[in-house]
Amino acid sequence: MSRVYNFNPGPACLPEEVLREAAAEMLDYRGAGMSVMEMSHRAPAFEAILQEAEADLRSLMGIPDHYAVLFLQGGASQQFAMVPMNLSRNGKADYLVTGSFSQKAAEEARRFLDVRVAATGEEGNFSHVPPVDNLTFRPDSDYVHLCLNNTIFGTRFSALPDTGNPPLVGDLSSCILSEPVDVSRYALIYAGAQKNMGIAGLTVVIIRRDMVRDDLPDSVPTMLRYSTHMKADSLYNTPPCQAIYMCGKVLRWLKGLGGLSAMAAINREKAALLYDYLDQSRVFRGTAYPDSRSLMNITFVTGDKERDAAFIRFAEQRGLYGLKGHRSAGGMRASIYNAMPVQGVQALVDCMAAFEGAQA
Ligand SMILES: *Cc1c(COP(=O)(O)O)cnc(C)c1O
Repeated sequence: MSRVYNFNPGPACLPEEVLREAAAEMLDYRGAGMSVMEMSHRAPAFEAILQEAEADLRSLMGIPDHYAVLFLQGGASQQFAMVPMNLSRNGKADYLVTGSFSQKAAEEARRFLDVRVAATGEEGNFSHVPPVDNLTFRPDSDYVHLCLNNTIFGTRFSALPDTGNPPLVGDLSSCILSEPVDVSRYALIYAGAQKNMGIAGLTVVIIRRDMVRDDLPDSVPTMLRYSTHMKADSLYNTPPCQAIYMCGKVLRWLKGLGGLSAMAAINREKAALLYDYLDQSRVFRGTAYPDSRSLMNITFVTGDKERDAAFIRFAEQRGLYGLKGHRSAGGMRASIYNAMPVQGVQALVDCMAAFEGAQA
């Protein structure tokens, strides 16, 4: 068996320890005589998995009691619709458009309410996020939406805007659990699990309970109401059992590592390794402005498409996979989520240096 260093943006690499544990429990989960995938979601063993995952997420992120944690399906993309469907009162919301996903979120919200784009980075091909101090929001907006880390363009907000009256909604799909976060700054946080929390099929929503409404228009489907899932503790219907189980294992792994502060220190170290290399390289250069650089998705180019493609092949021959940039951004992207070890990033830097040496 040989595992590669996998820089895929999502689904992404998982901690090897988590995979080994899941493999060991695959045929017989702790004496149940069956796998978690085959178990009733009402079985005490599964309810324990669900409760433990929620408890661990709460303690890792410091989620206050007046927030509900929901384990849903439909991907982060379904939240692009659920957020406006559930949070609309005045029929307006403000969006910060800093990349493809926040653009999609804003477009989807237009189906339901009046969207004002409070800032867009489109002209600069999303190579930086706006300084948060200069932003203004409509005081009667139902919420302000932002994407904290832009997976495709490799940028992130390192500070949150003061939104005034409207509450803040954050798409944290590609940075959740990568560093400590002040949950109380948000009314709602959502994240697809397949980047930093586990496997595809699960979307986690953290919502302040007073934002969950019962008085929605009749046309809002039962499954698309936060109230449905909050009242049923995420067991209204069959939840994504295996994905919740895997998420639970990732959370346990993170706790064992020392929690989010410890994780953040490792993530800063990994990102610094790569950015420091890029900053002195004569062949590669980072595409994100230094003040907007993501710790999770690091985008870079050689400035020549053929050379980019040659580097991606060169890297694959050395066991480094998933480095091709998104089709809308081009170049390369190294997604170095929590599960990517420092050694993987070092291997990438060594590979870039070898490629650079061969160019001379
Ligand atoms: C991947 C991603 C999405 C889309 O997630 P799906 O689960 O595929 O719907 C949305 N937002 C961000 C920031 C992402 O990284």
